[in-house]
Amino acid sequence: MKVQLDHVGIAVQSLEAALAFYRDALGLQVEVSEEVTSQRVRAHFISVGTSTLELLEATANDSAIAKYIARRGPGLHHLTLRVDDLDLALETLKSKGVRMIDMAPRPGAEAARVAFIHPAAAHGVLVELKEDAEGAAKTGWSGQERSARIGIIGGSGLYDMAELSDREERTLTTPFGEPSGPYTLATLRGQRVAFLARHGRGHRLLPSDLNFRANIFGFKLLGVEAIISASAVGSLREEVKPLDLMFPDQFIDRTYARRGTFFGDGLVAHVGFAQPLCGSLRQAASQTADRLGVRAHPAGTYVCMEGPQFSTLAESHLYRSWGADIIGMTNLQEAKLAREAEICYATLALVTDYDCWHPDHDSVSVEMIIRNLTQNAATAQQVIAAIVEGYAQRAECHCGSALANAILTQPDAIPDAVRRRLAPLIEKYIS
Ligand SMILES: [Zn+2]
Repeated sequence: MKVQLDHVGIAVQSLEAALAFYRDALGLQVEVSEEVTSQRVRAHFISVGTSTLELLEATANDSAIAKYIARRGPGLHHLTLRVDDLDLALETLKSKGVRMIDMAPRPGAEAARVAFIHPAAAHGVLVELKEDAEGAAKTGWSGQERSARIGIIGGSGLYDMAELSDREERTLTTPFGEPSGPYTLATLRGQRVAFLARHGRGHRLLPSDLNFRANIFGFKLLGVEAIISASAVGSLREEVKPLDLMFPDQFIDRTYARRGTFFGDGLVAHVGFAQPLCGSLRQAASQTADRLGVRAHPAGTYVCMEGPQFSTLAESHLYRSWGADIIGMTNLQEAKLAREAEICYATLALVTDYDCWHPDHDSVSVEMIIRNLTQNAATAQQVIAAIVEGYAQRAECHCGSALANAILTQPDAIPDAVRRRLAPLIEKYIS
């Protein structure tokens, strides 16, 4: 059994006060922050060499961390040891009569499997055993045990889904900054999903101001393997009518003010993007819409423009001459980053109106746009729920190994900071 120190958990009265020592005085860097509402705890993860410190602050008086501090004062809360095979480790420990809190693995943070050893057995320290991603793959760990298997991005008009149950809010801070808002972890038709409102609660973020990297990295941290992205679009084709759905299979890039890669800073990688959306997820989504009797187009080309202004008439005609079908402002960077994160990605494009090339365009009122957005949001919820319900039946795809031949930088030339920051993406290829 291979055992390595993963991290040390420290219960603190105040994260801000603790950072004055760990960050400011010691010069260490906070890599990821998260708030787990169900456990009423806020955590900062700080890298120290190959290990991590986890600073834990209670957000309510009845949280386990608050009770711990009341009983024993602030200080060492737990050690987390990484093992290559958790099932084997548990068997070994049980056979040696070690007192366990967990007799079987349970899902832990960052999509890992964990089990706790009783402090009485470890001489006063609570010890968490954690199985790393490689071990998890080896033991056939199924996606259902992760925080969420499917991610849903809600665009304009879709800020929540009524059908989500067993909700828990998860606020994450990633190495790329803050996502648009908290992720809602919930159950939808028997699957755990993570929902994110793209433009934030109350629609506060312009397309150009979206932190696409944080949004997609957050889904990766939650263990998501496929993202369904609902987005309002304008139509460039007569036959693609307002209130229709389209599942595009191609993009044209007309953006210029966005960061659309996780790589750089000493790590070079080029993923294939000839087919920018997951064919399997797109096909499943399109068949689902057909089954529900929704007017939907199974393929098409999405022009992603910078915005926030809509197109000029000359641009609208130009895009039509290029063979594009719909136009929007958000999906291309999400698709690029999802591919780099090895997450399947499909766009559910909801047509609100014709773009300005169409003679009807000028007669469209704000009221009509809002009415269409609202109706589209209802359709989107119905279709997304059905896609999630039938998720297990979809065909296989290669999105999960998109990085297999993409990293060009020699492993020993990858800077440590980049290696740590991108561990959830690249660990399996460079360790
Ligand atoms: Zn895929």
